[in-house]
Amino acid sequence: MNTDKPRLQQITVLGATGSIGSSTLDVIRQHPDRYQVFALTAHSRMAELQALCIQHRPRFAVVADAASAKRLQSDLHTAGVATAVLFGQQGLAEVAAHPDVDAVMAAIVGAAGLPSAMAAVQAGKKILLANKEALVMSGALFMSAVREHGAQLLPIDSEHNAIFQCLPCNYAEGLAPVGVRRILLTASGGPFRNSSYAELERVTPAQACAHPNWSMGQKISVDSATMMNKGLELIEACWLFAARPTQVEVVIHPQSVIHSLVDYIDGSVLAQLGNPDMRTPIAHAMAWPERIASGVAPLDLFTLARMDFIAPDLQRFACLRLAIAAAQAGAAAPIVLNAANEVAVAAFLQERIRFTQIPQLIEDVLSLQMSTTVHDLENVLEIDQQARAYANTWLNKQSITAGVGL
Ligand code: NAD
Ligand code: MG
Repeated sequence: MNTDKPRLQQITVLGATGSIGSSTLDVIRQHPDRYQVFALTAHSRMAELQALCIQHRPRFAVVADAASAKRLQSDLHTAGVATAVLFGQQGLAEVAAHPDVDAVMAAIVGAAGLPSAMAAVQAGKKILLANKEALVMSGALFMSAVREHGAQLLPIDSEHNAIFQCLPCNYAEGLAPVGVRRILLTASGGPFRNSSYAELERVTPAQACAHPNWSMGQKISVDSATMMNKGLELIEACWLFAARPTQVEVVIHPQSVIHSLVDYIDGSVLAQLGNPDMRTPIAHAMAWPERIASGVAPLDLFTLARMDFIAPDLQRFACLRLAIAAAQAGAAAPIVLNAANEVAVAAFLQERIRFTQIPQLIEDVLSLQMSTTVHDLENVLEIDQQARAYANTWLNKQSITAGVGL
């Protein structure tokens, strides 16, 4: 009888202190016979990262800068933990591409997560992609790197994970989906689904971050409230499932139980359902093609009782309109959209602009002429920086001409 235990899969969690990072660690904790934490990374909340290192004893931890690395290294040493602490984008890329790593959870928020996600792809890893901004910014480059390096890409975003479950793709072989008429991308509609434009003008950051169905980080919560999140997801879906923007239809489904659907040309419509808890897509992607328990309660259809479907209002939710236009324009437009949105969301959270000024800032930055060549990652990051500079100039002018007065 073979008594050898199967080798534990070594997992790097990029963005370990975030909402997705915590859910990932929760799934890992439920399966100590399958997974071991190889590296944990965080940008702030050092005490939390330290506690996670004491609990999981990873080989590496990665923080923002040298000074924080030195402090954490010394604290971990005192606690008797042998984790080596690295820092910066270099450190993130190192733990994403390390030869001993089997899978990388890419759960850093925003453009900051792109280089390390790309490093994991270029090292041919199994990549569990939560960071949607990476695909929005560099979809063509990212997907061709996946094919070139034979990486295994598994979507974590609940909608894309649902679509993947209804439409499995072998990215490494570059197979285009066959017989798909439409992808129906569901959206909760966020906390202001029924708010008037006048009400949207007075929305506070606390209200915008209080999502009715999902508990998430601040940036994605604001994106859900403006529906930019669905716009970014539409672009993400086009890259992941080789779809044209016109093939992806956004459907508001306030109960967030159907996570998305695929409509085939023979009239079959496949959907994935479940309680709104990110541990389901995380466990699915971690174990794929097997299945493991996630800790999510079974769906009770009798409690649910009804499901509603509503078309989105592109006037009140201008961010979704702008994202659809950027998806159709392609090239640099999605990079500019994403960068301007990140600046706008941060400014809204700091109460520098109103909620309704988020799409205004993005539209103004999108209308500016800027570099459009996107050959490599360097171009992507240059356009991102240029768009942020324009967005910051817009913000400075705005705060000189008008106080926000929320
Ligand atoms: P979060 O804000 O809760 O966590 C973000 C993590 O990234 C933290 O660990 C933080 O330390 C790290 N981080 C932030 N800025 C960084 C930087 N400049 N450099 C390095 N690390 C940095 O975010 P979240 O809600 O967990 O979302 C993470 C990603 O997953 C986002 O791209 C989001 O769109 C995507 N996503 C999240 C959910 C969700 O339910 N939360 C669902 C689908 C997709
Ligand atoms: Mg989503």
